Amino acid sequence: MTKKASVTISPKKSRREFIKKVKELSGQNLQLCYQCGMCTGNCPAAANMDVSPRRIIELARLGLEEEIAGSRTVWVCASCLACAVNCPRGFDLARVMEAIRLLTLRKNVDRVRPEDIPPQERGDLPQIAMVSGLRKLTG
Ligand code: SF4
Ligand code: SF4
Repeated sequence: MTKKASVTISPKKSRREFIKKVKELSGQNLQLCYQCGMCTGNCPAAANMDVSPRRIIELARLGLEEEIAGSRTVWVCASCLACAVNCPRGFDLARVMEAIRLLTLRKNVDRVRPEDIPPQERGDLPQIAMVSGLRKLTG
């Protein structure tokens, strides 16, 4: 009987790959951030996040994809650019948030399933908000 070949991706390798993909998709140098916290201080959505914007960068450059995926922060981010405008290092965190969302959606993991939205709410929600929300939250 022939043995099936299996490929094991080491945690270290998958972390490196995650960091590389975030950098490629966002076009940002994660090492530029010096963790001052100005982004969190200026983020209008920070109160609704479970992991602060500053900490997302820290987790991203450590390649801790699962910790980021387990939080709701990147989905709460409104892409308002307040963090990017106020960053003393010229770092565009909004692009990193978008890159992480894309990487999650590419795995066919939708944040919102349209069929789970109750029919009575579907009728009440503004159409434009529905369209933009589903573009952001589904693959
Ligand atoms: S404001 Fe800029 S440098 Fe400061 S923590 Fe946020 S991204 Fe990093
Ligand atoms: S782009 Fe996202 S993380 Fe940045 S300030 Fe706006 S809501 Fe916060």
